[in-house]
Amino acid sequence: MVQSSVLGFPRIGGNRELKKATEQYWSGKITQQELVEVGKKIRAENWLLQKQNGIDLIASNDFSFYDQVLDLALLFNVVPEQYTKFDLNSLDKLFAMGRGLQRDSIDVTALEMVKWFDSNYHYVRPTFKPTTDFKLPAEDALIKPLAEFLEAKALGVETQPVILGPISFLTLGKPEKEFLDTLELLDLLPKILPVYQQLINKLVTAGAKNIQIDEPVLVLDLDQKTQAAFKTAYETLNLSGSNVTIASYFGTVIPNLTAIESLPVSGFHFDFVRAPEQLEPILEWLSKKEYKLSVGIVDGRNVWKNNFAKSLEVINKAVAKLGADRVTVASSSSLLHTPVNLEAETKLSEEIKSFFAFATQKLGEIAVLTKAVSSPETVSAELKANQEYVTKRATSTLINNKAVQDRVAGVTDAMGRRNHPFPERYAVQKDFYKLPLFPTTTIGSFPQTKEIRINRNKFQKGKISSEEYEAFINSEIEKVIRFQEEIDLDVLVHGEPERNDMTAYFGEQINGYAFTLNGWVQSYGSRYVRPPVIIGDLSRPKAMSVKESVYAQSITTKHVKGMLTGPITMLRWSFPRDDVDQKTQAFQLALVLRDEVKDLENAGINIIQVDEPALREGLPLRSGAERDAYYSWAAESFRVSTSCVEDKTQIHSHFCYSDLDPNHIKALDADVVSIEFSKKDDPNYIREFKTYPNHVGLGLFDIHSPRVPSKEEFITKMGKILETQEFEKFWVNPDCGLKTRGWEETKLSLTHMVEAAKFYREQY
Ligand code: GLN
Ligand code: ZN
Repeated sequence: MVQSSVLGFPRIGGNRELKKATEQYWSGKITQQELVEVGKKIRAENWLLQKQNGIDLIASNDFSFYDQVLDLALLFNVVPEQYTKFDLNSLDKLFAMGRGLQRDSIDVTALEMVKWFDSNYHYVRPTFKPTTDFKLPAEDALIKPLAEFLEAKALGVETQPVILGPISFLTLGKPEKEFLDTLELLDLLPKILPVYQQLINKLVTAGAKNIQIDEPVLVLDLDQKTQAAFKTAYETLNLSGSNVTIASYFGTVIPNLTAIESLPVSGFHFDFVRAPEQLEPILEWLSKKEYKLSVGIVDGRNVWKNNFAKSLEVINKAVAKLGADRVTVASSSSLLHTPVNLEAETKLSEEIKSFFAFATQKLGEIAVLTKAVSSPETVSAELKANQEYVTKRATSTLINNKAVQDRVAGVTDAMGRRNHPFPERYAVQKDFYKLPLFPTTTIGSFPQTKEIRINRNKFQKGKISSEEYEAFINSEIEKVIRFQEEIDLDVLVHGEPERNDMTAYFGEQINGYAFTLNGWVQSYGSRYVRPPVIIGDLSRPKAMSVKESVYAQSITTKHVKGMLTGPITMLRWSFPRDDVDQKTQAFQLALVLRDEVKDLENAGINIIQVDEPALREGLPLRSGAERDAYYSWAAESFRVSTSCVEDKTQIHSHFCYSDLDPNHIKALDADVVSIEFSKKDDPNYIREFKTYPNHVGLGLFDIHSPRVPSKEEFITKMGKILETQEFEKFWVNPDCGLKTRGWEETKLSLTHMVEAAKFYREQY
């Protein structure tokens, strides 16, 4: 019999219960015990829901209070020394590592946070050293995968614990700073494997019949050593007590197939949504073996309804080759990346709603697909309805707009080129802006206070008029402008009080987008995003951001930077269409933004920042033709958005979590770029920017943490950058926008930052 499997379910709760409770705990409003109870309740609901839907393999240990990679680091005692000095209990230690802690005499920064593959989820990067003392907690209750397995069992749900595998855990981490050049992470394998073994033994003893070990790095380019490590690791572990499935997702494993083809495990899970082309070679390989195959076919990354006929083709091929008993129908990845429940969308039109499936609905889809293999007659109504959906969507008037398609077809090279190269533009700009050395600025947003949220809410509910709301927004803008003047920042921003989210705010003003009321997905920790959905061809009915920028500029003599979200970020932070390629969607967005940039310039906004924080995450996971093509069309879409301006107009761009090669940033030809840097602390990375031709601000403080760096800390940080940087091209700014911060720490941090810039101005 074909089985069904779900690799993980969203852990935020149907109404963001986890966020609310976590933040209440952080601010001291509820106890740790109360927070723990909220987690327990969410887990129970998720497991029971999956059981009701008839899912055979239900994940446990997919829950986390912050991040699953961080959980594992804590579980295996991969805890850098600075977090062990204070007597923090395990959950507080987890939060200290995830977000830093500044309380009483404690002052520790957070670990680095990086994007989870090509998603908008971020994991906390574990750091290792040669002497890392891998071990499990002495108490079983603190062994999270075990505790959660038993918790589910007590509820009558037999689960499949999910653990990140040793090769991925090590390679997704990094050496602690002192060992950056000397420690090879995989050399820690012999030390970490015994701990994996102990954990697995405990799970087996507790009755876990199935265990899923995630090795997502299998979709990356792996060197010889890493490939060989798979064999070493899985041949060393004794996995005979349970059915172990190795899972990979978000891409193809084919280039790494030899690394896993004979491992002593029971089966494999692969993602056939993202990489359908791997089906044939995988079936070919498996037909000569006895492994089970988990067919990832219901998209864990998008909100579109499954196309059953197409999926069944894949599943049936697998069944034909391997037999029903060896095939599992599964979500392509964890459903973590999709919103919880479409039923909560009371405002979507019936037509649009009929196109979508969120995590809860996807459980039903997996169940139907599973039945469709063995007893199709029991789901004939569902299959027929699905066929109707496919036709309806393809022909919907919501999807197709000929004028937009024609405009994209007419994009020329010249549209992606500024009038003159950077040195000539800079000469004009230098003269025009007369900025001091080390100009200071911010990335755009200022604290999104409770008051802002309350007013936005009132406006959305019709409780205040648009005039009242506009007056409120203007007063917020004025507050932000005055503050920036007061601390003497050089290039000001309006603070983005009108924006709930940098993608959704624009999406709501673009035709061809749909929005959800409750479609939240976790981005990191307690930060969730509600991506808008690109459903059709995109166009801009009217200007989107001009009013606020013009108001801000009208009340100050300093330059105010206009603030837009770039085409790649709009695309990446939306749920994209799955019926049109990404490049086409990016170019449609680029043309929308081009009109907006021109409108800003015409309205007297001289500096315009077009944020592309998602540029890096759009990068295809493997090197080669697809990645090269991406670099070229991604950069071109940015340039099409921004090249319509005069030389004097200064285009800024911003990236976070980048690890981007300066050469690729260069291709955007922005006049100034700001890049997240504060947690990098890596001189090599600074050096790489030496050859970057335009101007650059390497982020000087972490905006994910409430911690306030002192003036001296800023001076030290800047000093390191100035050692290697030609100083005329160096801007001073935080890592990213300040919207998640409170005013108190914002004021202090920015004040110290400006003081440090002034300190160096006097030196040079
Ligand atoms: N301008 C945006 C802000 O400041 C940029 C956010 C981002 O890069 N994630 O909030
Ligand atoms: Zn950013």
